[in-house]
Parts: sequence; structure tokens; C-alpha cells
Amino acid sequence: MIVVMKRSATAAEIDTVVQQVETLGYKAHLSQGTERTIIGVVGDDRPVQSHNFEMLAGVEQVVRILQPFKLASRDFHPENTVIDVRGVEVGGPKITMIAGPCSVESRAMLIETACAVKEAGADLLRGGAFKPRSSPYSFQGLGEDGLEMLAEAREESGLPIITEVMSPEAVPLVGKYTDVFQIGARNMQNFALLLSVGKTRTPVFLKRSMMATVQETLMAAEYVLSGGNRQVMVCERGIRTFETATRNTLDINGIALMKQWTHLPIFGDPSHGTGKWELIAPTARACIAAGADGLMIEVHPNPAQAMSDGAQSLKPEKFAALVRELKQLALAVGRTL
Ligand code: PEP
Ligand code: MN
Repeated sequence: MIVVMKRSATAAEIDTVVQQVETLGYKAHLSQGTERTIIGVVGDDRPVQSHNFEMLAGVEQVVRILQPFKLASRDFHPENTVIDVRGVEVGGPKITMIAGPCSVESRAMLIETACAVKEAGADLLRGGAFKPRSSPYSFQGLGEDGLEMLAEAREESGLPIITEVMSPEAVPLVGKYTDVFQIGARNMQNFALLLSVGKTRTPVFLKRSMMATVQETLMAAEYVLSGGNRQVMVCERGIRTFETATRNTLDINGIALMKQWTHLPIFGDPSHGTGKWELIAPTARACIAAGADGLMIEVHPNPAQAMSDGAQSLKPEKFAALVRELKQLALAVGRTL
């Protein structure tokens, strides 16, 4: 943090700032220019609040140098984090494909989808048993029955499973079944939920809120990490912009930026990012080209009959064709798939 003094600042005002730096437990580094004085706060000043200095007389501006997140930051941990999900390596050279229906609808459809996506080359099976729907009248998911079906589909297909947990109270129940906790976009800043999954040692798949900046997203990851759970993946799933022709705007910038700022594995979700199945393939390519470590794609055997998100779901054969195509692209960016 750097404190820039006003041109008119007096020696006494500068002295007060230096004393405040020292009172807070840091060293002050004074740089007296011809125009104005600049005071550097030396040390990890993340706990310090800008107003600690902004309120003092003679201060013009306070500039933060360090990102507010620490455990999530590449400064703290330069190497990529690699997460082992039941033997599937996430965040390594191989791109991770997560596929499956938006919602678990029935045992038969889930097992059919699981086997089809496994055959096509998926690494993890997704499916919501507790659904965060915008309307209370929409299908809310099958609850624990859905979790049991996911566990059965894991047995049948051999794929590890990922499913959403919506409240701290549900963490033990969902944790009994799942290999990865999904935190949905609408819950990205549910801090009680983040702290709750942070106490477990089950990997967490954190989806960026449609209303959050990249920095806020990594601060949400920081909540989970600070609980001691270091197995966090972050997913760009589209943000709200003025564009209404697509459901969301998939922030490719965000993927590239997160790869610079954090060591955590970064995913793209072209299904929720666009809302349109025809746009999944082109935006999936963009995610991989931007450096994503994996993709989450909704797949349904009969999208027209889906109980949620049919319009953004691929049929299994389209998913298989996409995986074949992406293998080439992965090689071009020095990865495999
Ligand atoms: C989902 O993955 O089905 C989902 C609800 O995603 P999001 O939280 O990103 O809307
Ligand atoms: Mn969905």
C-alpha cells in the first residue's frame, strides 16, 4: 500500500501518517520528491483498511499494491494447483471435461447420459439434485433421491461425480455422496456456505456469480481456502451484461486473467455462458484457447424434454463430436484432452 500525500501536506501531517503505519505494525518507507511525499507501507498490509490512512489530514490518495486475496494468489503459490478427484487429475496438462444433465431427472436418464459421456471422453459426471431455480414453481431437483442416483451412475460409469450444495446445513448430506461440491453462481458470496465447505476436505467447484468481478470471485475462493480446504476449482459461467441475445456473456478475459492471478484450476462453462447449444462448440474452443483447465458442459439425451436448461444442452453424439474436435485444439495449445 502506498500513501500519497497532498502537495500542501505539512511535516506534522507526514509524521502522523508515519506513526499510523508504525502503530499498525508496519515499517514506513518515505520518498520525498520535489512535488510531494509518498509513504510506502512495508509488509503484508492486506489486513489494513484504506480508510486507516484516507481519513488522515494531508493524505491525497491510498493505492493498494497487493491483491486482497493471498492463498488464491500466484504470488503466494506460483505452481499450478493440481487436484486429485478419485484418480482424475484436475489442473494438470490434461483438460478436464465435466459433462452431464443440468438436473438429475431419473435413474434411467442419468445412467444413460453417464455412460454416453464417459464413452465420449468425459472425466466427471455432473447433475443437480438440489436446483437453485429462479422461480419457486420450477423443478427443484430430486434431493437425496437424486444424490443416490448420482452415486449409482458413478458405479455404472466409473466417473466421479459433482453436484451442487445450496446451504451449509446440506453440506454433510451432499458430502456423503459427492466427489466434488459445486457452489452455484447464485451462492458464490454465501459466506456461511463457503466457510462450511472450507472445513471439509472434499474438492470444491466454485462458479463465478453473474454479478461478481474477477477479484470478488477469487475472494470467494479465498474463503474456502482459508478454512484449510486447498482443493478449489473456479468456473467462469458467464456474467450479466447489456447483451440480451444470449443468456449471459462468457467472460473469456476473466479466464485468461484468472490464470494469471491464481494457481487454482480454471474452468469455462459454455452452456450457462451462452444459453444456446449452438454456441457451445465455438465458446468451448475459446475457453481452451484462453487457457482454461477444463470445461463444464450440459448434456441431455433428449434436450427438448429436459426439466431444466434443455436449450443449452448437447445431445450425447454432439458432445462426442465436440470432444473429438477439441482434442486437436488442446494439442495446439500444448495440452491434451
Ligand atoms: C448449473 O450448473 O446447473 C447451474 C445452476 O449453474 P450456475 O450456478 O452457474 O447458474
Ligand atoms: Mn444448468
